[in-house]
Amino acid sequence: MKVGVLGGGQLGRMMAIAGYPLGIEFGLFDPAKDACGGQVAKLHNSPFEVTEELKKFVDEYDVFTYEFENVPLELAEYISQHKPLYPGKDALYYSQHRLREKQLFVDLGVPVTKFSKVDDRASLLNAGQEVGIPFILKTTTLGYDGKGQYRVTSEAELAELADKLFPEDGEACEHTTYAGVSEYIAEAFVNFTRELSIISVRDQAGNCVFYSPAENEHRDGILHLSVAPAANLSDEKLANLQSYARKLLEKLDYVGVLSIEFFETDEGLVVNEFAPRVHNSGHWSMEGSITGQFENHIRAICGLPLGDTTNRSVSAMYNLVGHDVNRSVMTESDVHLHWYGKEIKDKRKVGHVNILAENYDSLNKKIEYVDGQII
Ligand code: ATP
Ligand code: MG
Ligand code: MG
Repeated sequence: MKVGVLGGGQLGRMMAIAGYPLGIEFGLFDPAKDACGGQVAKLHNSPFEVTEELKKFVDEYDVFTYEFENVPLELAEYISQHKPLYPGKDALYYSQHRLREKQLFVDLGVPVTKFSKVDDRASLLNAGQEVGIPFILKTTTLGYDGKGQYRVTSEAELAELADKLFPEDGEACEHTTYAGVSEYIAEAFVNFTRELSIISVRDQAGNCVFYSPAENEHRDGILHLSVAPAANLSDEKLANLQSYARKLLEKLDYVGVLSIEFFETDEGLVVNEFAPRVHNSGHWSMEGSITGQFENHIRAICGLPLGDTTNRSVSAMYNLVGHDVNRSVMTESDVHLHWYGKEIKDKRKVGHVNILAENYDSLNKKIEYVDGQII
């Protein structure tokens, strides 16, 4: 079996690494010549468009997947007409656009925060009444790692933002918009106690398995630490997380790994967003679960039986963002370095460290130790 992956970054790279023991071959498609997945699998360099290169890529592989949700829909359409693409186009259609995504959750009965569409000065100024202040304004498309987001905490800030994004005399300058996107969603600020995510997998026959939900800590809008299983999660919340995930998996006739981010509040769970792919908050599963998320994704899309998602122990994923880590961490038992082979740059995810321990106390001590080894 030959798997073609759209995107040649660390997620594609880790899919390939997980799939090789199963005898699966990989080709990655990415415009960047130095995409780090190219170090472990065949890299096809071309823009994400239906080019001759892309057509050749589609001919060469048996089944297709992607490592990012912004795959152009025309490209997904072209692939689907020729070969299986998992997860399918629907998953991309909804996850690429925050308004569609939120409305889908409403339709499925999954709790969301109040939201409204913003696409001009009036609708932005009105958002204060619609969803209440404070709120977060996010571009409907293309944002990740907190990019393309603005926090509004007062009427004065709202007026200032309106002047910046929708000036009364003309259009916002390019440098004040994110990636040229001028359609937004205003989301009421969720006063969460913590952030949780659940990684689930559905196979081609419709069987679903779930990983233990993780508790996630962000720094500067970028995931810093995931701990799984999330401590002190009630049985009721666990059941809710799984049932929300199942609803989305079934609605999208999904095949592969699905990730959903939630806020936990005193009033219950509120969904944030989903990603139709393997996810940074699931990296702990590479050693922390009997079967890691990358292997299970590959199993699902290749029509193989899914693997056991039981935790081996409590575990954590410590992200290496713009920093290296002292190799001495490797002397610690059950501490696993994953280095992506990328050049270190500010705010760039260059690797992660998975940490397993017998209980949360010793896990926290190991996390502190790793924290002290960052260079
Ligand atoms: P990702 O890299 O996870 O795809 P993203 O750019 O799509 O990030 P979000 O996940 O929507 O952004 O938001 C980033 C972070 O900002 C969240 O993890 C959370 O900490 C905070 N945040 C987002 N929306 C809200 C909200 N409505 N209320 C409170 N905090 C929020
Ligand atoms: Mg996102
Ligand atoms: Mg997010």
